[in-house]
This record gives sequence, C-alpha cells and structure tokens, in this order.
Amino acid sequence: MDTESDRLEVEWRHSRTPAVWSSIERPSHQVLSRRSARSKSMSNDRPPGEAIRAFFEAAGNENLFPNCPFRRELSHLHEFDAASADRILGHMLGHIIDHRAGQPCRNESGEMISAINQDDIQHELRFIYNDCNNPRLNEDRKSGAELDPADLDSYRSPEYHGFDPEQRGCFGADARAELMAEAIRAYMQNPNYLKMVAPNVAARIRAAVNPNPALNQIIQFN
Ligand SMILES: [Zn+2]
Repeated sequence: MDTESDRLEVEWRHSRTPAVWSSIERPSHQVLSRRSARSKSMSNDRPPGEAIRAFFEAAGNENLFPNCPFRRELSHLHEFDAASADRILGHMLGHIIDHRAGQPCRNESGEMISAINQDDIQHELRFIYNDCNNPRLNEDRKSGAELDPADLDSYRSPEYHGFDPEQRGCFGADARAELMAEAIRAYMQNPNYLKMVAPNVAARIRAAVNPNPALNQIIQFN
C-alpha cells in the first residue's frame, strides 16, 4: 500500500471524532471560525493536518491548486476550531483525490493537470458549492432558518443562489478544481446529502475513485 496515501487515510480517520461528526447534519452548515485565544493557549495537541500539509509541500506538489482559498489556511490550522479545521482538511483531501483519480488534461494556460471529468455535471457541482459556501445562506442557517434545497419556498430568495468559486478569485481550471474539492469533501462528510442533491456528481466520483488501484484501498465511496 502507498505509504503516503496510508498516512493521509489514517490522519483523516483520526480527525473524524464522533463529537465533530455528530454535529454535521449537512456539510453546508459549516462556517469557518477561529478558536478563542484561551483554547489556543491550552492546546498541546499535535498540529492537525500534518500529512495533508506534507503532501502539498512535497517536491512537485508545491504548485498544485495555488489559488485555492483554503490552501493558505493549512499553515495555521491550529488557529481554527475543530470543525473548521476538519472542513479545511476535507477540502484539501478532496483536491488530492481529484488530482489522483483524475485524467490528464490541460488548463487554460496549456499546462498539463489531472482532474476528474466534469462534463454534464457542472450544474450539480455549482449547486453543491453554493449550498455549502454561500455566506448569506450559511449566516441565515446559523440563526436557525431551515433552508433546505428540498423546500423550494424558503430557498427561493435570489441571494441564496449564485455563489461560485469565481467570487473567490478562481477561474477556469481553478474554479473547476474548487467545485470538485468541495463535492468530494461533502461526499466524505455526508454521503447521504451529496447523493440526494447531486446524484450525478456522486456517480462520477464513485466511477473515478472506486476502481482506481491508487485510491480504492484507502477510500471507497458508496
Ligand atoms: Zn481548494
């Protein structure tokens, strides 16, 4: 078994503590928040995300996903609360899986990259991205509003739609990478949510990852 992949998997499983996981009904409820100064000073934990951070610092990987808004947070994960750190790690692991399971293709600059094909699933991918990242949606959900995609009346407001990676400065292949990383994170954190709102995305991820011998010994999507 690939040692690096093994370490990534061990670290990911380690981070899935029941206390964190049981609080995640749908991944869209996650909003990044920093730890208080008190909890920071009291923590003697091993820094989270060591293996995932090491992957992005390894030779040849330094330039992967340079415009990812979460990548810069890897160097100070300890400043975030557990759920937020878990979200960042899940997103970055999503990038690794997209990269490892993907097919060679070119970005807009003509550089070779590796990514899972997104033909015909852009609509679902953008739905997931908005549903998990739209600041207004997240803010209103925090205050208890039930904003479920299945409930069209409460979800209809225009400000609850249209939040895309482009609004965080990611375009072209960078935007597509953000869409897939968030979809894979959502699939890992809540498979039922992902399969309900984006069945075609779920099928595409399964088709890319499950038969892949470089990945299927460490992760399988059901
Ligand atoms: Zn990213």
